[in-house]
Amino acid sequence: MERRILYLNHLELEALVPQKISTVLVPVGTVEAHGIIPLGTDVIIPEAIVDRIAERIEALVAPTVAYGITRGLFGYPGTLHIRAGTFKAYMRDVLESLARIGFKHLIVINGHGGQTDELKSVLFEVSRDRNVKTLLIDWWYDMDELRKRTLARESGHAAADETAAVMAIDPDLVKKDLYDDEMMVRYSKQFAAYPFPGTIITYSEGDASLNLDKNACEAFFNAVIDQVTHLITRTLTLWGRS
Ligand SMILES: [Zn+2]
Repeated sequence: MERRILYLNHLELEALVPQKISTVLVPVGTVEAHGIIPLGTDVIIPEAIVDRIAERIEALVAPTVAYGITRGLFGYPGTLHIRAGTFKAYMRDVLESLARIGFKHLIVINGHGGQTDELKSVLFEVSRDRNVKTLLIDWWYDMDELRKRTLARESGHAAADETAAVMAIDPDLVKKDLYDDEMMVRYSKQFAAYPFPGTIITYSEGDASLNLDKNACEAFFNAVIDQVTHLITRTLTLWGRS
């Protein structure tokens, strides 16, 4: 069945929510430079995740919020920035509107770490004020074992993990010819630079270089989907008991 709200009419939606479906997935991202993968990487990955899990968790899919808070990479061509206050107010209105329709479980699938704090704050406020349950998923966290098993790499920004996800979604979006290992810049608390002097960023001393093997990338992303699905299913079950 069609699960994207944008493609349902209001009569179909009314027949579904909340009687048959009480969970909505909201993909949220930002537009920023990502090395050799698209400016929309933080949007493309959450959209692919919700597309693959909506049926498994019996949810509808809300329209994507593609504009977000980009700070460190502001200044690179194509990178867009929404001020934190604007983003929070906008997200709050989006989520409150979904609660008003009748959704009881609002799940944000976020693609961008630079707005996690703001999303947590909004999700708490909406849960408190609208008597709904809210869940934020930053898909790339807690993937160490899974990432090492499938990609044999460390995590990073526009590095092995995000690039593998994009590769699994559409290999044509990964511009291999533009890549060399020198593009990788190590993040350090010793300095802050605006913009940061590179868009492929590693946070550890380990190897975060791109693994461009398509099978490995697909194994990684499939495992990500399974883990995220499990996390959501378990949370919904536990909420149901409370
Ligand atoms: Zn990203």
